[in-house]
Amino acid sequence: RYRKKERLYELHRELANYYYLCLKKNRNAQYYLAGRKITPETIRAYGLGLAPDGWQNALGFLRQRGYTDQEMLDSGLVMRSENGRMYDRFRNRIMFPILNATGRIIGFGGRRISEEDHGPKYLNSPETMIFSKGTELFNMNHAKSNIVGGQMLIVEGYMDVISLYQHGVRNTVAALGTAFTAYHAALLGRYVGEVVLSFDGDAAGESATQKAITILKNTPLNVKILRLPIEDDPDTYIQKHGREAFEKKVTEAITIVEYEIGLLRNKFDLSQTDGRIKYINQAIAVLRQLSDEVQIDLYSKRLARETGIDLKVIRREVYRKKP
Ligand code: ATP
Ligand code: MN
Ligand code: MN
Ligand code: MN
Repeated sequence: RYRKKERLYELHRELANYYYLCLKKNRNAQYYLAGRKITPETIRAYGLGLAPDGWQNALGFLRQRGYTDQEMLDSGLVMRSENGRMYDRFRNRIMFPILNATGRIIGFGGRRISEEDHGPKYLNSPETMIFSKGTELFNMNHAKSNIVGGQMLIVEGYMDVISLYQHGVRNTVAALGTAFTAYHAALLGRYVGEVVLSFDGDAAGESATQKAITILKNTPLNVKILRLPIEDDPDTYIQKHGREAFEKKVTEAITIVEYEIGLLRNKFDLSQTDGRIKYINQAIAVLRQLSDEVQIDLYSKRLARETGIDLKVIRREVYRKKP
C-alpha cells in the first residue's frame, strides 16, 4: 500500500510537470491566464498547467513514463469508458495542482478555458488513495508558513487564493469544491486561532458562509466574516480595489453574532411594528446562545440602543429560561 501511494504521488508529480510544459507551449491558454491577470511568476509559484484538448494526452504521457493502466485509473486522472476505452479526465482545462501540507501533489482542479466547452466550469480530481476533499485545503502548504495575526482567510476558489497571493495576501486557503468540514477546522486549528470567512458576495457565498458557521461554532476557532459586494469574489475585489482595500475589509470583518443579527435585520421589515418585534425577539434568541457575559453585555447594549427597547428588558429576556 505504501508503495502504491508512492507511485501515485510520483504519477501526479510527473503529470503536473507535463501539464506545466503544455501550458508553456500553448498561446491560447497563456492568453486566458493573462486575461485574468495571472503573471508568469504566479504560474510558476503554483505550478499551473494545461491539460491539452484531446482524449488521450495524459494517458499517452503516463504510459510512456511506465505507469500501468491500473495505476492511471487509481489516480483518477484517467478513466475507462463502458466499452473499455481509456481517456483523460481533464481536457482543455487550466490545471491547478493541489498539494497536501507536506507539499506533495495529490490531485488537480481544472478550469474550463473555452466558453463553448460543455461540462462544468471546474472539475476536480475524484477521491483517491491519496486525495480526500473533506480533509485537504487548497494552498495549506503555502499558507501555513505565511500566517498573519493568527488568522487564516478561507475563500471559495482556486482563483481567489491565487489572485490574493499575487497581491501579497498569503494566509489563504480554499475548500476544494466541497463544503467546509469539521476536519478542515481541526486542521486549521493547528496553525491559527482565528479564521476569516471570505466567500463570494453572491447567494452561493452567503449560503456557504452560513454552512461554515454551523461547523465552526462547534470548534474553538474564533470566526470572523468578511462580506463582499454581491458582484465580487476576493479575486475580482482585490483586482478592482487593491491590497489595502481588501485588507481593510479583513480588519472590518464582523463576528458571528453581528453577522446573524445582520441577517435578521434584513429579513424583517423594521418599519412595521410586527417586523420590529420579530427582529428584536430573534436577535435576543441569538444572544441567548452566548455563554460569555462580556459579549452578552456588549451586544445587549447595542440592541437596546438600536431598537430603543429598555436594556433591562433585553437582559431579562436573554437570561430567561437558560439552563
Ligand atoms: P472563476 O473566477 O474562475 O470563474 P471562481 O474561483 O470564482 O472561478 P466559483 O464559480 O465562484 O469559482 O466557484 C468557487 C469554487 O468552487 C471553484 O474554485 C471550485 O473550486 C469550486 N467549483 C465551482 N464550480 C464547480 C463545479 N461545477 N464542480 C466542482 N467544483 C466547483
Ligand atoms: Mn461562486
Ligand atoms: Mn472568481
Ligand atoms: Mn467565485
